[in-house]
Amino acid sequence: MDIKVNSKSYKIKKAVTTLLEALTYIQENIEPTLAFDYGCKSGVCGACSIRVNGKEQLACSYTPADGDTIEPIRYAKQRRDLLVDKSIAKSLIAKTKATIHSYKEEVLGVADEKKSEVQSNCILCSSCYSACPVVEVKPNFLGPYALTKTYKYTIDKREGEPKEHIDAIQSSGIWDCTLCNECTLACPQGIDPKSDIVNLRNLSASYGYMDPNFSNMGFSGGFGFDPNGGF
Ligand code: SF4
Ligand code: SF4
Repeated sequence: MDIKVNSKSYKIKKAVTTLLEALTYIQENIEPTLAFDYGCKSGVCGACSIRVNGKEQLACSYTPADGDTIEPIRYAKQRRDLLVDKSIAKSLIAKTKATIHSYKEEVLGVADEKKSEVQSNCILCSSCYSACPVVEVKPNFLGPYALTKTYKYTIDKREGEPKEHIDAIQSSGIWDCTLCNECTLACPQGIDPKSDIVNLRNLSASYGYMDPNFSNMGFSGGFGFDPNGGF
């Protein structure tokens, strides 16, 4: 089987079941300096996120095929080969202030826990961020995982100040999303950031916020951020 890593072809002369095994084969037998990241090897830690044929995958879960083209995830500084700096996750979560702001004692029932159960499964792999077309044209966009995390805390009954979360995502946040769904398709954990962003827009409206791109709607039939409208 031949695969390309950053445009360079490698022949894998061994049966492999995961892309991570193929990369390890290259490192052990062909290119000892090939740099890539991994951790748990079982789809839990998110360290090995990567792009295969232009789509985000976890290297430890993806079964490679002959002719696959492998690249690092996008919008993270490339350190070497497939290794990227994912520290932007920390700064985006800090910007959205996606943690409990003011804790209040509340008993959570099963239904309450279910509400944000799926968002709690985020492994910060950055696949959704890499897949998002808005980040390409607007690098300061808060992006899908940070907004999904914000939604999780906004609907948490133990959060005494939910409006603070809503306030933090008005600028370069929810209204800039095109609702293209690429983030949802890219997520290996079944999280649906697009729907969470729609829910955050509805919550924002209940706090008196309006879509600042409202004037772009109606004429184009679009919804929200107009990528042709300039910034
Ligand atoms: S739905 Fe929004 S956040 Fe998700 S990829 Fe599209 S533009 Fe980005
Ligand atoms: S929302 Fe999904 S794709 Fe995005 S960082 Fe979390 S686990 Fe990865």
